Amino acid sequence: MTRLPLLLLLTLSACARPNPYFNPDRAHHRPDGFANNEQATAASRTPWYEGLWRRTRGDFQPLREPAGGYPAFAAHWTTPVDTALIARRHDAPVITWLGHSGALLQVGGQNILIDPQLGEFAGPSSALSARRRVAPPLKAADLPPIDLVLISHNHYDHLDEATVTQLAALQNPRWIVPLGVKAWFDERNIGQVEEIDWWDSRSAGPLTVRLTPAQHWSKRTPFDTNASLWGGFLVEWPTGAGTPWRFLYTGDTGYSGDFKEIRRRHGPMDFVMIPVGAYEPRDFMRTQHINPDDAVQILLDLDAKRGFGVHWGTFELTQEAFDQPPRDLATALARRTRPPEWIWLLKHGESRAVE
Ligand code: ZN
Ligand code: ZN
Repeated sequence: MTRLPLLLLLTLSACARPNPYFNPDRAHHRPDGFANNEQATAASRTPWYEGLWRRTRGDFQPLREPAGGYPAFAAHWTTPVDTALIARRHDAPVITWLGHSGALLQVGGQNILIDPQLGEFAGPSSALSARRRVAPPLKAADLPPIDLVLISHNHYDHLDEATVTQLAALQNPRWIVPLGVKAWFDERNIGQVEEIDWWDSRSAGPLTVRLTPAQHWSKRTPFDTNASLWGGFLVEWPTGAGTPWRFLYTGDTGYSGDFKEIRRRHGPMDFVMIPVGAYEPRDFMRTQHINPDDAVQILLDLDAKRGFGVHWGTFELTQEAFDQPPRDLATALARRTRPPEWIWLLKHGESRAVE
């Protein structure tokens, strides 16, 4: 029964509104929205009925439970947050995984929150959403003072209404979002939001924060496919040693030449936060979500010193089981003769100093 109104909404989804940010000189701008540098994703090209058919068939749910079941998986992959550690300001970088693509990056004395999703589900309502299988390691009220929140795109597993409204009420932090995402904040009277285009940058204390391209898409409602931009974030911290320390969060992405271009423009990366989950079935996900093998290749493209795998192990989004990404990542690293620790997998709530 819940499918019927959704169906009606989806049939109306072809109506496109003009893109108020449209700049014909920018290749990824379209009169009615935004586009990737290389190819459209399967998800943005797929007719609504195929999405519905794939959902009914089970394309967006794990095919099996992790070995030992979900409670055992959650217990193994969760650790208590070191609240004393994250309460301190850090000059040298410290990263804390908050589950899925949520992370706290502390560097240069700044506290930067990335794609925080501490909600009970990822979607518009509990009935139409991806189920959470591992509890968030902390509440918004447990976060230290946040100087800046970075939101990579408007998908529900990255932009969570419950988390954002709680954080705004508690701290009213500054937000940086891709073009077109600010309207969502305006509708909720959340201030201090700056929206930027690919390659544009802002300062945050001593840091430079830049939006970078990724091969993905956006959608919040049946009417807004690719109406707002998506991307990743490059954070540069001037260490005084000539070249800055460079952190890149790729954002959700398929494999593309965008990362070689980021490397060409901005140099090698010190620490790359990159998705390693939500990649099966490959025929549908390949253009929009990398698998662990692609993640390893992107780190090579970026001349990265180290990676940090995210976008896995928290929500039921795709077909691979929750315990599959660590295995596929180990295989991918071995194939390129890279050490297992080249790409970190943290537990929910775990903090690590980045050397
Ligand atoms: Zn996404
Ligand atoms: Zn995502």
